[in-house]
Amino acid sequence: MLLGLPEFDYHDAATVDEARALLARFGDKARLLAGGTDLLIVMKHRRAVPRHLINIKHIEGLSRITLTPDGGLRIGALATARDIDEAVGGQFQSISDAAGKLGTEQIRNLGTIGGNLANASPSAEFAPPLLTLDASLVCVGDSGERVIPVSEFFLAPGKSALQTGEFLTEIRVPVPADGARGLYLKHSLRKMDVAMVSAAIQTVIDGDICRDVRIALGAVAPTPFRAIRAEAVLRGQPLDHGTRERQLIHEAARIASEEASPIDDLRSYASTRRDIIIRLVRQGLEKLFADSRA
Ligand SMILES: Cc1cc2nc3c(=O)[nH]c(=O)nc-3n(C[C@H](O)[C@H](O)[C@H](O)COP(=O)(O)OP(=O)(O)OC[C@H]3O[C@@H](n4cnc5c(N)ncnc54)[C@H](O)[C@@H]3O)c2cc1C
Repeated sequence: MLLGLPEFDYHDAATVDEARALLARFGDKARLLAGGTDLLIVMKHRRAVPRHLINIKHIEGLSRITLTPDGGLRIGALATARDIDEAVGGQFQSISDAAGKLGTEQIRNLGTIGGNLANASPSAEFAPPLLTLDASLVCVGDSGERVIPVSEFFLAPGKSALQTGEFLTEIRVPVPADGARGLYLKHSLRKMDVAMVSAAIQTVIDGDICRDVRIALGAVAPTPFRAIRAEAVLRGQPLDHGTRERQLIHEAARIASEEASPIDDLRSYASTRRDIIIRLVRQGLEKLFADSRA
């Protein structure tokens, strides 16, 4: 049954400082409103009943997407999936892939990267690419600004390293190594659904050597995570375009599925999720290795 929204007081923050002051004033009774694609549904179902909603959508500059002089990427927390899909590419392709696969067109028009990460869902679309790219998240709060490596941001389902009164303002992605390529793959029941399994992969291939590889998985553990043991299978290995390369890829994919701890839920059985991990990781690695030879 679709319920109406509970009563709340609405506040429009025009600046980061205003948002910070409102959060400090109302504490746990307040929630930030960005795109609202998640929060308003949660409120309609009374899974959250904040007394105060602080709209941050009108804060200038927080939806900006820029390249730094050294080639790193900065994404404002209010950039929508659509903004990111349209503006980001090249060595940051996996972020753009994730943006293009998030929900429906309507959700991509409204849903922000900050809201996506702050939710700390195990299936958060932007988490795996940012993990493979060593991104950091800038947040502000009562005691100023702090920068949290994305690898330390997700603590448990629905729980992030953000403290009461803190909010995300920017995502910083350092410049990737020369020759880095990445992609993001998602398996869901229907295209618009959240992921049953997602995988971001980033590789650096130098001639016939796999210099670096990063594999991050979503929706198959309490938090999105890097499959470190799977990466180690490939890192530094010569690639022969043939049987040995296929074996290495298969081994890495198998180990990635072992590193996961998926659960049975409405969307899938754990065993199915493990099979899908193997398929996605294999598919991603094969594509990136083939692209490096093109
Ligand atoms: C039909 C549908 C399909 C969806 N499909 C997907 C999908 O495929 N993949 C996926 O990952 N998600 C999906 N979602 C979930 C959601 O739409 C996205 O996660 C979206 O990016 C959330 O962003 P938002 O700006 O709308 O967040 P909001 O709803 O505005 O906020 C979400 C939460 O984050 C907090 N918040 C917002 N901005 C900040 C900030 N800057 N700092 C700190 N806290 C903040 C809010 O207080 C709230 O608690 C879907 C939702 C719907 C309704």
